[in-house]
Amino acid sequence: MKTNFHTHTARCGHAVGRDEEYVQSAIRGGYQVLGFADHGPWKFSSNYRSHMRMNPQEEFQDYLHSIRALREKYRGQIDIRIGLEYEYFPPYMDWMRQIVRRERLDYLLLGNHFEYSEERRFYFGRQVVDEETLARYVDSALQGMATGLYAYLAHPDLFLRGYPSFDRHCEKASIRLCRAAKEQGFPLEYNLCGALEDRRTGQQHYPHPLFWQIAAAEGCDVIIGVDAHSPDALEDDSLRQEGIRLLTGYGAHVIDQIPYFAW
Ligand SMILES: [Zn+2]
Ligand SMILES: [Zn+2]
Repeated sequence: MKTNFHTHTARCGHAVGRDEEYVQSAIRGGYQVLGFADHGPWKFSSNYRSHMRMNPQEEFQDYLHSIRALREKYRGQIDIRIGLEYEYFPPYMDWMRQIVRRERLDYLLLGNHFEYSEERRFYFGRQVVDEETLARYVDSALQGMATGLYAYLAHPDLFLRGYPSFDRHCEKASIRLCRAAKEQGFPLEYNLCGALEDRRTGQQHYPHPLFWQIAAAEGCDVIIGVDAHSPDALEDDSLRQEGIRLLTGYGAHVIDQIPYFAW
């Protein structure tokens, strides 16, 4: 099956295109299942306003309304699913659970971008630079996994966006993360948005071969996520093919399905 559960929309402020263009690109790209998982809204208790996600009021309602309408319009052509990419933010988890249940979402992805709450601005993609901050990244990911709310961990090697190079601390952290994921049967996402950025910039951040060799050796389930921030990402298959070739070469177990909430 050709599936993608990681699709953003322009509501997050750093993605482009209309919702329907993502659907049309996915159909042209040969996808059978397209899951939208835009950055989930939070109702922060401070006056902090996020610049990387929809607001919990009208934008969230518009997101649900738009994707539900597309699901009906394209029924029979492509299976559209409604999810969100959500963090693990301890002070707000009760609120998050409530809206996920209220709106009967199909699934959540764990996007471990910030520690504790975005209000503190500790961004794992840039501020993980040593053994101590690496441990904080893995702790947060493991706590999120343990909630049982999420279908998989998006870009588990995000910490390599800011880390100087893949050293022995990265190896240790990767083993701890992958071993826990394997124990819990929690899939890890090989992220094509990171691959696209690396292709554009000529860098090697994430997905990182050494991380994925560890994930394969630990026996983790791996799923490809386009993490589409523009519709054309669903039509260019080269990064996906390259990812599958690398992963199967490492002996990784690649999956293409996730469980949905049963409401
Ligand atoms: Zn994004
Ligand atoms: Zn993400």
